[in-house]
Amino acid sequence: MGIIKKNYKDILYFEIEGFTFDENMKHLFTTRLGWKQNNIFDDLSQVISVPKEKIYSTRQVHGTDVIIIKEQCNSDVKKVEVDGLITNIKGIALSTYHADCVPIYFYDKVNKVIGMAHAGWKGTLNNIAQVMVNYMVKDFSSRLKDIHVALGPSIGVCCYEIGEEVAILFKERYPYNSHILVEKDNKIYLDLWNVNMVNLLNAGIRKENIYLSDYCTSCNTDTVFSYRKEKGTTNRMLAVISLNQ
Ligand SMILES: [Zn+2]
Repeated sequence: MGIIKKNYKDILYFEIEGFTFDENMKHLFTTRLGWKQNNIFDDLSQVISVPKEKIYSTRQVHGTDVIIIKEQCNSDVKKVEVDGLITNIKGIALSTYHADCVPIYFYDKVNKVIGMAHAGWKGTLNNIAQVMVNYMVKDFSSRLKDIHVALGPSIGVCCYEIGEEVAILFKERYPYNSHILVEKDNKIYLDLWNVNMVNLLNAGIRKENIYLSDYCTSCNTDTVFSYRKEKGTTNRMLAVISLNQ
């Protein structure tokens, strides 16, 4: 699995291989090429053909709270401090900001429910993936076998060095999943993709319904931004999912 490079005029974006099986749902991940950072939602609106005011984003706080968008309201969810969004409304788009943290895309292909979540190490440790699945099941009657999930571009185990104190938290929370941490040259690396995979499997998502982009942001700063590699860049990519009208 991996990413598929797509172009809209001079704008480059990614799709995640395998997650493109249903034309009722669209998803993408922006890059640093062609997008205007200060007007990224204008560009996005054109690329996905969704009006700007129907593209939802939130103030992300590395938590596990989620907002359910059940009716199209004018309320400005940009001010809501949550890291996940879920809806079954057609014609709107859900988006989260990223520059190393994992974008997790959710799609119930039967009930037509979409979700988008932002998971850095805290959201991953505290299992926002499970929270998203719980809401889809409880609020939208999603069946676990119908939920497809994609893990988008983010910092890979090749580059994500962490401190001992963070490693201990993961060792304690995941005592039977030693493969999530890799030690080399006296350094510890965390595999965020693998932890989220464990979280999704534990939540009851089928392995064959999980799609991996396998694309490290830190290894690819010619194409995407990396907070870690670029020492705190304020530039971000958007992870986006939408249901067609
Ligand atoms: Zn890397």
